[in-house]
Amino acid sequence: MLNLLKHPLITHKLTQLRRKETEIKEFRETLGEITGLMAYEITRDLPLKNITVETPMGTCATQELARDVVLIPVLRAGLGMVDGISNLIPSARIGHIGIYRDHETLEPNTYYSKFPDNLADAVVMVLDPMLATGGSATAAIKFLKDQGAKTIKLVCVIGAPEGVRRIEEDHPEVQIYLAGLDEKLNDIGYIVPGLGDAGDRLFGTK
Ligand code: URA
Repeated sequence: MLNLLKHPLITHKLTQLRRKETEIKEFRETLGEITGLMAYEITRDLPLKNITVETPMGTCATQELARDVVLIPVLRAGLGMVDGISNLIPSARIGHIGIYRDHETLEPNTYYSKFPDNLADAVVMVLDPMLATGGSATAAIKFLKDQGAKTIKLVCVIGAPEGVRRIEEDHPEVQIYLAGLDEKLNDIGYIVPGLGDAGDRLFGTK
């Protein structure tokens, strides 16, 4: 199910990311900031457990997060979203997944993966700024399910309708979070109007 996050600060920062004049430093900082703002909505349904703590004044019945959070950036652009959430949830563990598309079969292949061992019990957030065709996102989610993950959220910044449809068809139970839903993909799979190549803009390649 798609959750389009419409907070004014999120929209403002998305505009900064889209501008072609936005240089590497500002792009990197803004991607982290927008992900942090999105985290408020993404974490809205996290369960709490009752605990007591000692304050300097006495005992306080209170609550804390009941489930672990695991962040899985999809290499490489997903790396730019990690700090925005891990700054807010410092206990979050971080795995990595790298996927490439085979030029002959056009099938996505996982070339790298390293995950923490608490996937089955954790709330797993897959991070990838651009949800274009949905090919790598659906492959990452399938791979994580095969490794035991049960609660998966897909966190992207901009999505295309094609990518959203693909995830909704392949993984109907996965919540999708976007800051912007754009018009379409072009003939080489880039989101239009989008923001260009997120990895290149984040790392200054190209
Ligand atoms: N990946 C990107 O970085 N940008 C797009 O528009 C699509 C996929």
